[in-house]
Amino acid sequence: MLESLEGKKGQPRMKPPFPANVGLYGAPTTVNNVESIAVAGTIMRRGASWFSSIGRPNNVGTKLFCISGHVNKPCNVEEEMGISFRELIDKHCGGIRGGWDNLLAAIPGGSSVPCVPAEQIVDCPMDFDSLKNLKSGLGTAAVIVMDKSTDMIRAIARLAQFYKHESCGQCTPCREGTGWMWRVLTRMAEGRAEKREIDMLLDVSYQIEGHTICALGDAAAWPVQGLIRHFRHVIEERIDQYSYRSDPDGAVRHAAE
Ligand code: SF4
Repeated sequence: MLESLEGKKGQPRMKPPFPANVGLYGAPTTVNNVESIAVAGTIMRRGASWFSSIGRPNNVGTKLFCISGHVNKPCNVEEEMGISFRELIDKHCGGIRGGWDNLLAAIPGGSSVPCVPAEQIVDCPMDFDSLKNLKSGLGTAAVIVMDKSTDMIRAIARLAQFYKHESCGQCTPCREGTGWMWRVLTRMAEGRAEKREIDMLLDVSYQIEGHTICALGDAAAWPVQGLIRHFRHVIEERIDQYSYRSDPDGAVRHAAE
């Protein structure tokens, strides 16, 4: 954003120095998101103790949730931090499409965080620490709900395509890795892959994570890691089905071996 304001191509800057020290036109600059600014007035009026009495220790205040996907009424809503996933969805979205038994998984914090399977997310408090304990995150609180009609491999492949498109290309792991992951996931969604490639894909995601200028590299890696952590069996089944379709005798032979 600072680069754009200065009339340059909107690419992430190397940090440090951080904008608070060297920001717009080299001057100290405070960068805040709209959500923080919007709530500041109410905190000033009601006091910090009121705001910090909402939620649980270390996870206080309110949060803007943007709930999309397979719920009856997708919406944006401000709620208490730490509300359970079930209460959030029932209270504001009219429940899961087809009922709670139809829930497959959710991405609780925007497309960059790992997905969480239904049985783990339903009663989880929607706050930073609780979701971190599930190896995911609250992130932007853009909750994506997926019911059992979802093809998880295709869904994550679509996210990988988005990150490939958004990569600005400054860092080699992100520039090359996002496209590579997208291509492999696209094949995996068809089953046109080998099982050893699952671990190779996981390994590449770890090589991207933490090795880039901005968080887009991590954002591209985490959904892939979530898919493999929770839905490896789906990828393997898809590969088995593909091998069977393309060589039924071979698949039977392999099974016998
Ligand atoms: S991580 Fe990706 S988007 Fe971010 S600076 Fe590097 S290449 Fe650009």
